[in-house]
Amino acid sequence: MSTKLSVDKGALSIIETLQEEGHTTYLVGGAVRDLLLDIEPKDYDISTTATPEDVKRIFGRAARIIGRRFKIVHIYKGRNIYEISTFRRMPTEEERKGRFDDEGLMVWRDNEWGTPEEDAFRRDFTANALFMDPVNNNEILDYCGGQEDIKNGVVRSLGAPSIRFEEDPVRMLRALKLVGQYGFKLEKSVAKAIQDLGPKMCLVSQRRLYEEILKITYKPCAASTFKACHDEGLLQYLLPEMAEMLSGEDAPAFLELIRTRDEKVKVGSSLSRAYSLATLCYRFVEKKLCPESKFGDGWEPFDGIDLKVREAVEEFLQPYHVTRLVSARVRDVLLLQRRFKILKGRNKTRRHPEFHYAWLLFNTLAESLEWDKEITEPWINDDTLVNKRPKNLRKRKPKQS
Ligand code: ATP
Ligand code: MG
Repeated sequence: MSTKLSVDKGALSIIETLQEEGHTTYLVGGAVRDLLLDIEPKDYDISTTATPEDVKRIFGRAARIIGRRFKIVHIYKGRNIYEISTFRRMPTEEERKGRFDDEGLMVWRDNEWGTPEEDAFRRDFTANALFMDPVNNNEILDYCGGQEDIKNGVVRSLGAPSIRFEEDPVRMLRALKLVGQYGFKLEKSVAKAIQDLGPKMCLVSQRRLYEEILKITYKPCAASTFKACHDEGLLQYLLPEMAEMLSGEDAPAFLELIRTRDEKVKVGSSLSRAYSLATLCYRFVEKKLCPESKFGDGWEPFDGIDLKVREAVEEFLQPYHVTRLVSARVRDVLLLQRRFKILKGRNKTRRHPEFHYAWLLFNTLAESLEWDKEITEPWINDDTLVNKRPKNLRKRKPKQS
């Protein structure tokens, strides 16, 4: 397998520098997978024999060591951040016995240095365990049949999935992301292990799971990813209210709404949480405010609606504790929806700090529900609305899982 795309210059120069310093260094993980699928990677992970301290010494102030027990290095180049990790291997039984937090099968950190081959086998799926050497003709190192599985679109676990998912239940969600993002199929034992071990998701920290859910919204395939999670029975452990919605009559309209959002993300509209989370919450909030409503009917205002909307947002996103700032922003994006339907006070509506994201959600609803032009025209065709993204909201790189 080869790639038509070229590796990002920043990643290439980091790999070149480390190789010149005598360290075996490759591109790894999702970036290699994406390049082989002819998709532009969103971030670049690099693995090397250099220790974090070596990397820091070589790159100086551009490099920052992150984490205390599981150290990796971030290198800042232009607007990009590159993640450099040292080849590691899985801990042995003996090593794990001595660790207070590696109880049962759960493994928190594989922290022993290893060879590239050992590093490949500690990863989650064969499609994520390939190395690429962009300095030497994009040579691929494939220790576990990853290329074949990418070609055939198969999610195959490295090691028995029943054990690997007990070690780290987030791998189940990562398997379904491959299904949602690329249309891969789960290998039989992977599907079975997800069915059996879904409830183990509750052992994962809420913070980590919330980050994973946000990461799903950064990609233009949230609808297919959440659907894959639902089809395989995992969504009930991630977002129980969404799982319930996907089992009911609102499922087709909900998925269409998220698909329309995905299209907007694809063309670079917005990675804002306020927009994405409001899109996910919209129908749940609408039903809370107005149980008899049909999808997209909206609601009438009443005293105390602010609090009610915010509570509904928090309920939908349970079990995660979203910050008050985020839930307040999502609330505002939702509350503004009503103002688009009444044309009074358009200038005031436009001046609202969340106007841009509220307007995006309005557009998304209008497109997915095929609303009458009469409702949308006064706003949709208003040139002054385009490119009004608030300043100073920098895109953040999602943290590594
Ligand atoms: P994305 O395109 O979302 O970045 P990714 O596969 O690169 O997908 P990352 O979170 O960037 O995801 O992880 C980089 C690599 O680290 C993965 O490709 C995989 O090899 C390995 N990895 C990440 N999480 C796990 C995990 N929970 N268990 C084992 N290996 C993991
Ligand atoms: Mg990645």
